[in-house]
Amino acid sequence: MAHSVLKLTKDQISRLEDTYKSFLQDTVPQGGQFVAKVDGCTITAYRSGKVLFQGATAEQESAKWSGEQVQSRPASEKRKRKTHNHLPPETISSMSIIGSDEVGTGDFFGPITVVSAYVSKQQIPLVQELGVKDSKLLKDPQIIEIAKDLLKVIPFSLMVLHNEKYNELQSKGMTQGKMKAMLHRRAIENVMTKLPEGSVVDGVLIDQFCEPGVYFRHTKTNAKASPVPYFFETKAETIHVSVAAASIIARYAFLKKMDELSKKTGVIIPKGAGQQVDEAAAKIILKQGKTYLNNITKAHFANTTKALKLAEKKRK
Ligand code: MN
Repeated sequence: MAHSVLKLTKDQISRLEDTYKSFLQDTVPQGGQFVAKVDGCTITAYRSGKVLFQGATAEQESAKWSGEQVQSRPASEKRKRKTHNHLPPETISSMSIIGSDEVGTGDFFGPITVVSAYVSKQQIPLVQELGVKDSKLLKDPQIIEIAKDLLKVIPFSLMVLHNEKYNELQSKGMTQGKMKAMLHRRAIENVMTKLPEGSVVDGVLIDQFCEPGVYFRHTKTNAKASPVPYFFETKAETIHVSVAAASIIARYAFLKKMDELSKKTGVIIPKGAGQQVDEAAAKIILKQGKTYLNNITKAHFANTTKALKLAEKKRK
């Protein structure tokens, strides 16, 4: 697994902890200060000052803090960085792009939301003006605020994969990767039909969740025949605002669903898949039963078993 290590001061680590506030995990290893999980990366900060980034996006995530980096991973590992034929061009950030991103794949509760959004090069300054940036750096109230503005100014398409359908597909053996690919494809196709007449699309940029070849296979897309080039890159929200905008709208839709779930169940529904999630799930089992829980969660996650055990304990 890709990893990167930084050596930071106490102050710097506090700033990291603050930045990843909404992604903190309950379990922290011995000597650890905090563990945070973001899309594709687990961040473990130790009291010694060492911060470990692990996962597919470790390099990009740690690069955000690289100004402070004293010790990077060995050059031999860096050379191994996987590359492919669909990397975006250097100049992409000023192009007219359809960006696509998803939310909810690692959350036990709630749907997967996928959004494709079009930002023409003329609209880039406006979208930036609205405060669009990497949604992982924004707090929920900011996301809601920005999303509401965005909905009015850019063409987008939102796909929601509800839990019942997700569980059905999953039980038939479909991988989450394939589900995501199909949702992205539909969102991209949809948004293309919503573009104002005469719109130029320089490319489609997908926040990379799988190798391009895998995406094309899952979606039966003939990339070579496509009039619009497809680009894939991890952390694409930092490369083009259309992906950042898509991510914000997807998160906004996800938050709304989570809010609805909290109201429906009378239990505050936490994000993620940590211990608090197990607790909330156990409460729901006790109140509404296991079938009910299954219909509002990604039922194959380990949280189901953990929640059942917790519920049993509480019943006694
Ligand atoms: Mn993403």
